[in-house]
Amino acid sequence: MGYLEGFGVTFRKWGEGVTTREYRAGRGTSSKGVPDPNDQKAPKPERAHGRHVLNRYEDGMEKCIGCELCAGVCPAKCIYVRGADNPPEDPRSPGERFGFIYEINYLRCIHCDLCVEACPTEAITETKLFEFSFENRADAIYTKDELLVDDDGMPQKLPWEDWRPGEDQNTSGWMRATAPAGRAAYENRVGWSGELGYGVRAPELGQADSADSAPEEDANDDDHSDSGGHH
Ligand code: SF4
Ligand code: SF4
Repeated sequence: MGYLEGFGVTFRKWGEGVTTREYRAGRGTSSKGVPDPNDQKAPKPERAHGRHVLNRYEDGMEKCIGCELCAGVCPAKCIYVRGADNPPEDPRSPGERFGFIYEINYLRCIHCDLCVEACPTEAITETKLFEFSFENRADAIYTKDELLVDDDGMPQKLPWEDWRPGEDQNTSGWMRATAPAGRAAYENRVGWSGELGYGVRAPELGQADSADSAPEEDANDDDHSDSGGHH
């Protein structure tokens, strides 16, 4: 296509009106500048991928064991993890190691969720929040202190994030495409261990036509997946 034909397409499209939709996310105002109570965020799909959280067990222990699998699988190379031995007098996670440093660079993250899939302990999951922005590059790198869920097991509401009531529900667990054992079919099976703020979740439905289609090799998996406790 030459230049003239290209300009022709541009001019033809000019008359077709705007095709992009404005996403105001509740920031709409009336002509007098009063916030519009009816202009709320559009509902998001149940599996929408937003900014991450680092989860904790029901007793408050951190789920991350600093294994770095998430960093290794990340196609955007935006996770930086350093593990360290748990201090015997004040262990942060069950087991030997914990995530000493954990950072995600949101200027790179493409929200593919491969880190969530790779994590052996369900430590990293994604919320649905994508309404956040930064004024400098350093602020785009979330630290462990910011990613770790609070004492109620809920995502921290950071000042530059636009959370609305109820948006912190179902921020994890539902984000995975497969069960922890890698099965795509886990209908009627609890696939997650218990979690601070949410406890043990009911099995996610819709993963298979029937429970019978789940492979037999899972007999041993039920011990840990149904327990709701530490792995
Ligand atoms: S969602 Fe994808 S790009 Fe983002 S941190 Fe996880 S693996 Fe990396
Ligand atoms: S978030 Fe999961 S995969 Fe990443 S270092 Fe922690 S335990 Fe390992």
